[in-house]
Amino acid sequence: MESVLKKHFGYSAFRPYQKQIIEHILDGNDSLVVMATGSGKSLCYQVPPLISNKTAVVISPLISLMQDQVMALKQRGIRAEYLCSAQIDSTVQSKAESGIFHILYMTPEKASSVSNSFWSKLLNVGICLLAVDEAHCISEWGHNFRVEYKQLDKLRDVLINVPFVGLTATATEKVQSDIIQSLKLKDPYLAVGSFDRKNLFYGVKTSNHGSSSVFEFVEEILKCVASSGSIIIYCTSIKDVEQISKSLLEAGVKSGIYHGRMASKAREESHRLFIRDEIQIMVATIAFGMGIDKPDVRHVLHYGCPKSLESYYQESGRCGRDGIASNCWLYYNRSDFAKADFYCREAQSESQRKAIMESFMAAQQYCMLRTCRRKYLLEYFGEICAYENCGYCDNCTIPKKEIDVSKQAFLLMACIKSCGGRWGLNLPVDVLRGSRSKKIVDARYDKLPFHSLGKEVSANWWKILASQLISFGFLTENLKYKTISVSPEGMNFLSSCTPDHQPPLLLPVGEEEQQNAIGGGRDFNMDFLKSEGLSQEELELYKMLLGERMSLARAAGIAPYAICGDQTIKKFVLTRPSTKARLANIDGVNQHLLGKYGDRILQSIRDLSKGLGLSLDVVSTLQVVNNQKICTASYHPKELAPARFQAWKMWHEDGLSFQKIANFPGRSAPIKEQTVVGYVLDAAREGCVMDWMRFSGEIGLTEDAFINIEAAILKVGSKDKLRPIKDELPEEVSYTHIRTVLAMQDLGLTRDALLANHRPSNEANDCSIETVEIPKQSYISSHVESKICELKEPVNCMAEHLSSQGESKAVSGMQDFDDQHSLRKRQKVDPHKNLISVKATEDSIIEWLGNFENGISLSDIVEHFKGSTAESVAHLLSCLESEFVIYKKNDHYKLL
Ligand SMILES: [Zn+2]
Repeated sequence: MESVLKKHFGYSAFRPYQKQIIEHILDGNDSLVVMATGSGKSLCYQVPPLISNKTAVVISPLISLMQDQVMALKQRGIRAEYLCSAQIDSTVQSKAESGIFHILYMTPEKASSVSNSFWSKLLNVGICLLAVDEAHCISEWGHNFRVEYKQLDKLRDVLINVPFVGLTATATEKVQSDIIQSLKLKDPYLAVGSFDRKNLFYGVKTSNHGSSSVFEFVEEILKCVASSGSIIIYCTSIKDVEQISKSLLEAGVKSGIYHGRMASKAREESHRLFIRDEIQIMVATIAFGMGIDKPDVRHVLHYGCPKSLESYYQESGRCGRDGIASNCWLYYNRSDFAKADFYCREAQSESQRKAIMESFMAAQQYCMLRTCRRKYLLEYFGEICAYENCGYCDNCTIPKKEIDVSKQAFLLMACIKSCGGRWGLNLPVDVLRGSRSKKIVDARYDKLPFHSLGKEVSANWWKILASQLISFGFLTENLKYKTISVSPEGMNFLSSCTPDHQPPLLLPVGEEEQQNAIGGGRDFNMDFLKSEGLSQEELELYKMLLGERMSLARAAGIAPYAICGDQTIKKFVLTRPSTKARLANIDGVNQHLLGKYGDRILQSIRDLSKGLGLSLDVVSTLQVVNNQKICTASYHPKELAPARFQAWKMWHEDGLSFQKIANFPGRSAPIKEQTVVGYVLDAAREGCVMDWMRFSGEIGLTEDAFINIEAAILKVGSKDKLRPIKDELPEEVSYTHIRTVLAMQDLGLTRDALLANHRPSNEANDCSIETVEIPKQSYISSHVESKICELKEPVNCMAEHLSSQGESKAVSGMQDFDDQHSLRKRQKVDPHKNLISVKATEDSIIEWLGNFENGISLSDIVEHFKGSTAESVAHLLSCLESEFVIYKKNDHYKLL
């Protein structure tokens, strides 16, 4: 199961619940999955078809969503298609019947209208599951009831014995039981994950809707634009969508719009541009983005109180699906609360009306909340929340200094009371501000003792105070008649006051500026990365790689995130892999990505890192902890003959001397030592990593000799012939010495390379093999180091080269070991306690790993294959990993 995960999705471990759900599906059981956005729900229905080789049918409410998912799945090498009115390829249906798709998406309309013969044909070839995505749409108690979902229960009678899976990100217990009944789920496995989206910051701000509020809001949006990442702005009306988009354009920012009254072509285009990062902002009604798959949305701003807390949770949940810090701000005005009747018009029954009212009231409360917003959200969905302060919402983080507003509160409440509670807020505020409008003079309010007592402060300030008094229960607002009056609690307060003395009343008001931090001008993504310890250069590299991904995506006509996610890019930046094996080892890199974009990505990392002065192949703590990688694989450079490559591997990797390699017992006849040296030099010229100090030590090339040879080359003035150079030099300087200096010069190296374990800057050729430094304090490193020490003695490793690189036999003239077969037999008989020195080859590793269903650790593998060095074992493992033959999970290697 894990092998499918790595191969197609690039991950080496499942997230919570995923595996259990998949197992239940494979066992033929029904399931109900309630898990937050971004927790990997879709994987639960995407993996079973890859294991069972039967089609998974997925019911999804939105065509654009299906198209996005199909696009992303194809990028993972998964056969996926969709069936609905928008499908222009007429062959899809018959192809689907033949069972060629792993995953087939259908709209509920299509699923309930397609003929029974379609289902029976598909049943014949095999259906592994029927998934109903956004399953809350089936419930009248859900916030998004859709009539066509009600038809789906009919499929239960057609698809007998096919496991049904309902999936949703938002469902209270009531909605959950409704889904189970409506879909006729039989004793379903219930997986309810946490609703906590830890990377999301929640905040709320009040506004005074009206012409100026749009401008205020646009200002806030512009601050978000300054940071990177996509932005979704949800409006409660089409009018607002159009107005905000227009204001943004006037401010010089282009945005896409999306609402139900647009033609479907225009909607699709808008969606497409947003998904592909061609536009940064989407201004939309809630018609946009149900189940949107875009993982890198950084801000979701709501303009207006949403119609339910469920929909708010879901819409804001489209933010930061990739786990990177993101923001959800809600901008509301109290007049939004008057929309209850409007929303209730949708109700088709009394119970539905009640459900709509309940959810809307919850959303209102969320707006006016003065305690932790996360806690409120989580508890609404039935989660128990032990803390009071999450530390990551506006109420928990933005200090709200309370000030004593007793005098002003007394004035406002007394004025409202004197005006008889028959007016909205504007009139009493105008009275306090000293207005002599006709309305005020006619009603003789200009004769009230409070008239003009509050003209020092703005009308806006008074309105903010009023909203605080409302939320603290001192004032009551009648939303229907738009009037404001003093509540019993307010009357209590008034009765304890005299014009000269009021008891203290502390309220968090008067801090408009402080609360103005929607999104700020901060680049949250970059801030987040910085907080994770990325240097300035690494941040630069991150931005550049995002750009590279964008151009790859444009060329392929797909969304950037479909190539790989931001988190994966972050790992590229931290590890800066130079080889495909290292790239493959990164979480999030799947086989398709490696095959299709691997070379281009490596090239970019190489070039950009060089430009920024960053070294390649960094073992970050992240990689050590997650991947426990000690050596990298080699890729045989195409230009390098196998015999040369083998010689270099034996010298560099196995630590054999030139003399031992030349006289290796596996050869039909010994070869000259100089020939081996020549081979290794050729490998170095092709970019293979070299330890020049060791090399010069073995051939006896001193620093003085190096200087003499350089001088001789200069004197001769040509490198074409060795003889004239040799003639300029003392007897003891050999041709091998001269060849070495020439090779080093060609590689741009000086004699300094002989002094220390100098490595060429490693132009990141594909054949670089090097042992990577591991932080000393790491447990893993000391563990591995001790293993390496135990195995220091160089041993024959001819067998591995012979069996792993069959082609090399002919070229290098080496002969196979006769005992290869008996060796394998012995390994099989006694996998744990081998007394002989078993040599590691690709075949022998694969065969041996087959014995361990749960995989086996690197140290155990090294222990078993005592006949090879730890480095060469690790190298072979790397090769196998990059070829997707094996994979690593929890530091254990397993067969794919
Ligand atoms: Zn909080």
